[in-house]
This record gives sequence, C-alpha cells and structure tokens, in this order.
Amino acid sequence: TIEFVRATQLQGDEEPAAPPPSTQAQQKESIQAVRRSLPVFPFREELLAAIADHQVLIIEGETGSGKTTQIPQYLFEEGYTKKGMKIACTQPRRVAAMSVAARVAREMGVKLGNEVGYSIRFEDCTSERTVLRYMTDGMLLREFLSEPDLASYSVVMVDEAHERTLHTDILFGLIKDVARFRPELKVLVASATLDTARFSTFFDDAPVFRIPGRRFPVDIFYTKAPEADYLEACVVSVLQIHVTQPPGDVLVFLTGQEEIEAACEMLQDRCRRLGSKIRELLVLPIYANLPSDMQARIFQPTPPGARKVVVATNIAETSLTIEGIIYVLDPGFCKQKSYNPRTGMESLTVTPCSKASANQRAGRAGRVAAGKCFRLYTAWAYQHELEETTVPEIQRTSLGNVVLLLKSLGIHDLMHFDFLDPPPYETLLLALEQLYALGALNHLGELTTSGRKMAELPVDPMLSKMVLASEKYSCSEEILTVAAMLSVNNSIFYRPKDKVVHADNARVNFFLPGGDHLVLLNVYTQWAESGYSSQWCYENFVQFRSMRRARDVREQLEGLLERVEVGLSSCQGDYIRVRKAITAGYFYHTARLTRSGYRTVKQQQTVFIHPNSSLFEEQPRWLLYHELVLTTKEFMRQVLEIESSWLLEVAPHYYKAKELEDPHAKKMPKKIGKTREELG
Ligand code: ADP
Ligand code: MG
Repeated sequence: TIEFVRATQLQGDEEPAAPPPSTQAQQKESIQAVRRSLPVFPFREELLAAIADHQVLIIEGETGSGKTTQIPQYLFEEGYTKKGMKIACTQPRRVAAMSVAARVAREMGVKLGNEVGYSIRFEDCTSERTVLRYMTDGMLLREFLSEPDLASYSVVMVDEAHERTLHTDILFGLIKDVARFRPELKVLVASATLDTARFSTFFDDAPVFRIPGRRFPVDIFYTKAPEADYLEACVVSVLQIHVTQPPGDVLVFLTGQEEIEAACEMLQDRCRRLGSKIRELLVLPIYANLPSDMQARIFQPTPPGARKVVVATNIAETSLTIEGIIYVLDPGFCKQKSYNPRTGMESLTVTPCSKASANQRAGRAGRVAAGKCFRLYTAWAYQHELEETTVPEIQRTSLGNVVLLLKSLGIHDLMHFDFLDPPPYETLLLALEQLYALGALNHLGELTTSGRKMAELPVDPMLSKMVLASEKYSCSEEILTVAAMLSVNNSIFYRPKDKVVHADNARVNFFLPGGDHLVLLNVYTQWAESGYSSQWCYENFVQFRSMRRARDVREQLEGLLERVEVGLSSCQGDYIRVRKAITAGYFYHTARLTRSGYRTVKQQQTVFIHPNSSLFEEQPRWLLYHELVLTTKEFMRQVLEIESSWLLEVAPHYYKAKELEDPHAKKMPKKIGKTREELG
C-alpha cells in the first residue's frame, strides 16, 4: 500500500448542483435537460448579446461548463450560419475535436458529418452541409492557405486557448489581423480560468465574459515519500481507492499511449487475479490514437455496483469532461516537447507538470460531488519542484512548419509578427536556415516554387522534401508508404507481455538491410499483399488499426501528389533510390560513428541508436534518424544507413566534402555500445 497524507483542499462554491441523470435511458431522454443544466445555460442570452456587441470576446469558464459543446450551438440557433456561413471551433487535440463534434451532433439530433462535423489532419468528417466545424487548431491554420480572410466563416472560436499550443498562438496573430479587415467576423477566445487577462490585452482590451463555475471541494492528498516507480504506484493506488473508497469513478493522468496501455494491462491483470474478492472495475484508456469507438466508451455511464477508472493523457485535463469522476490520481508528469535552437534538436520528454496543470487535474474530481485528488508526490515537491505554469509551446519547439506556412501566406517579416509571446530569436533564425537548406526559401528568405509545394503537404518540411525528392529518384510509391508509416510512428508493432519472444521474432522477420524506414516499407508492402488483412496483422504482431491509419494517410498524400507535381513511380526493388530520397529530406538529421559512439554530423552531439532499431547491432558508420527521443539518453528513433557521398549529392550547399571525411575509417572498432541483452 501507499501512504497518503491529506494536506490541502481546493475550495468549492456554495451553490449545489443538480445530480446528473444516472441511467443511460434517462440520459438519452434528457439530453436537452442536460444541456439546460450546464453552467453556461443561464448566461445564454447575456452571452449572445455580448457577442453581438463586440467583435472579439474572451470567454472564461471552468472546465465542463459547456463552452465547447454549447456556445457553437447557441450561435447556430441564433442564425450565425445563415447564408451558408460556417462556425469554426478549434481544439488543440485531435481526440477532443472528434469527441466533441460527435457529442454536439448527438445533441442536435443530426448525423456526424452533416450539419456538425470535424476536421483533423488526414481525416475530414465534414460535408457541404457542415456549418459547425470542430477542427484542430492546425487545420484552421491550413484553412488560411486556401481562404486567407476566412470569408466563409461568420464566427471563429479559438477554444482551449489556455493550452497555448503553437498553432493556437499563431492563430491569434492571424485572426487578429483578419478581424481588422472583416468587421463582421466574430472572434471568440475560450479558455479555462487561466490567463484570460493576457488574451484580453492582446486583442486590444477585448471584454472578458465570465461563466461562473460550479465546483465542489476537493481534498488533496500527497504521498509521504517520493515514489520511484509511478506506474506501479498508480496501479497500487487505483486498487487501494477501489477497495477502500465509497463509489465514484477514478481518473488517472499518465503521459502517453505506451504508459497508458501498460497501466491498463497491469490493472486488468491484477483485477483478474483478485477475481470476485473485489467489485467490478472497468478499466478504460483514452489517448490520441485510440480508435473512436473505444473513445466513446469512456463516456458511457458506469453500471451500478461497478467502478470505472479512466486512464488518460492530458486530454482529460481540460479538453474532455467525463461525468461521475470523484477521484483523481495524479502522478504529476506530462510529456513535453523541448527544443534546443543551438543544436536544432527537438525532444519529447516526460517532465513534471506545472502547478496550474496539477490544479486543473485536481479540479476534475469536484464536478459532480465533493471529491479527492491523490497526488503521487510529496507536498514538498509540489511547493518546490513544480513550475507555476507551463511554458507556451512556441518557446520550446522547432518552427520550420509554421514559418513555411506563414511565408506561404505572404508574411515575410516574421521578427515583427504579432506574437502573444514571441519565440526565441535563435529558433526563428534556425527555422529560416533549415528551410533555406531544404530549398524552400531562397537566399533573400523568399518562398521558392519548391517551398510552395512543400507547404501544400500537411506534414513537416523534411517529410515534404522527402516526398518531393521521390520524383527525382522515381520512387514515389515507396516514399508515400514510408511517409505514411512514419506518420503513425511507433505504434506499428504489438508486443503483448505473455508473447514477448514471438512478437520480437515477428518484428525481426521484417528487418531488411538498410534500416528502419525499409522495415516499415516492408511491413506495409506485405500487409498490402495480404489484402490489407487484419488476420495477417494478428499473426505478425502488427497493430491493425495503426496500419489502417497508415493506409488512410497514404491515400491522402497520394491524392496531393498531383498538386506538388510528383508522378507515381516505383523503384522496383532498387532501395538505394528510396534511401537517397529519404536522405534528401533528412540530411539535417545525420550522425556518424566515431570512436566514442555516434555523434551528429554538424553539431557533434552524442546520440544513440534506439534498442528497438533494426540497426542496433549493425552500427553503420553513417546514418540518418527520423527523430530523437530523450529518455535515459538521446535515442535516435527510426534510423537509416546512408553513405556520406549521398549527402553531397542531395545537399551540396549544406555539406562540404571535407567534413564528411573519416580520419579513423580504418581503425574503427566493429561494434560500439552495448548489445540488446546487456541493456536488459
Ligand atoms: P467546457 O468546454 O466548458 O469544458 P464542454 O462543453 O466540453 O465544457 O462539456 C459540457 C458537458 O458536456 C460536460 O458535462 C460533459 O460531460 C458533456 N460532454 C461532452 N462531451 C461528451 C460526450 N462525448 N459524451 C457525453 N457527455 C459529454
Ligand atoms: Mg472545452
């Protein structure tokens, strides 16, 4: 058991809330009653009046008050979609866009994709008739490419503004500009109760509309001592809550799919072993790549007598509200991107979350009744180790993508773009430099023809460049597959605990000389040959749904080839061409083997091949990597063996022959680093 001490309490409000309807039948009947019970409802008229009176309105309200699902409906009912005008509501997360659109379609009694739809990258569930469009912030950004003044929209609601994602931040600048030219465009900025004064100031002192929250008190507990293994601690604590606490569902915050799946497996395993000694515990995961039928399950009411535990990423912090949560379990971590503009290295790491985040999480326990939040860290750690707030993404990410997009929109002077918080100067500079190296910008910083094409593809500039280069090397068929497989990254292989050996063997069977990109190509090709069979996936320990997604992505990219003037062609087994095309996009991400292990070519950073890579034991002299992940070390994930001469071929302006010489070539030890076994 884990010992918790009660320390503080999040204050609730006086006003008691009506208990939510309990059974599914009741809930269906009373969907309108539920709408009327939401905190935003009493403010409907006042809110609509404020929107009518002001072009820009900041809307602040507790999570779950009905901002996302209700306000667009109010606007629809009020006639903002007359004459075919559309309402956009942006979400930082794909899952939120999908889930919220589905909910609103149900509330309105329409089929998803008709009047209400969603649009996320590689998935468009909208039609001509769709007037309420939930979309990721990234998708609205891309809308600017085809419709720079957003002329077909009457209202743009930038939702979850407090998340301060890169795309949301860029949207602020663009929308502020458009609003000046289109006085009839309504702009709503919706946010949880954080930071709203900043938004108001940014939008020339736009008024803030506050929706009073409805909160019950939440008791906060901390562990007595730090927990070394928070995953294990999570599992133990959930069971502890289940056994000792009165009814009420549990929400657990973990950092990503792998962790969530592991935790769910462990929980189910232990419940099975405890059998009838404990009451039923429903274990439900929620994360970005979860298929939508599984996502919908978290919203289904818990059967009487049972308890539900939802194991979620940050998505459940503010974007999604699950009824019935009384207990929150918070290990205090999240996955965060960080970027080093000096080295150009981006990494995704598990880091302690901020105090603001921890408090949002705790608040989720007090929505329907008084709740409890168990923090898997000490009160001291909360006070002394957590940052106050999360740094906006724009200050800890690479900007290649966004800079390319802004350049395509004709925004040249990026240094003076209207940023809510500006990115670091070096990061902007490096983005420009990289785009220049990729041939997207000329030496004056202007968009080139090739750059314009790169912006057409909804992927990172390097991936775009790789696709464009497949024309030259006549291998677009293969490159499309590689691009699609890279986009569903790291969720291809399935490795059940009880069949680890079989799964690993199956994976090794796909290995091809050359590296991981070719392995991905091989998996996809064999799957296609099987007739896209799910049985084939099952037998080969490949995740069917990831493959299905890769197929969707591939189809979409294929559909865009014509626009970027790349013809369909196949390398006919000449993989050197595929590898060269990949190198043409990723020549920035190269490493060479030195006597002290791998070093990135330009920056001389120490990096390691990920133990899951097909090249882990090969240790080729030159390689490129798709991405770096920092866990215990800087690991290169998805690596490809290359020849240094290719770098001169694909990027002569970037590499000099001299820096690609290898003084130690002859003395190179055959193998450096530990073997898989030694790593455990
Ligand atoms: P906010 O945006 O202010 O956080 P929302 O509009 O997302 O609030 O949520 C309002 C209510 O709608 C919440 O009580 C939530 O439980 C409910 N809700 C949202 N999505 C779903 C869904 N897919 N299924 C059931 N209820 C949902
Ligand atoms: Mg919301």
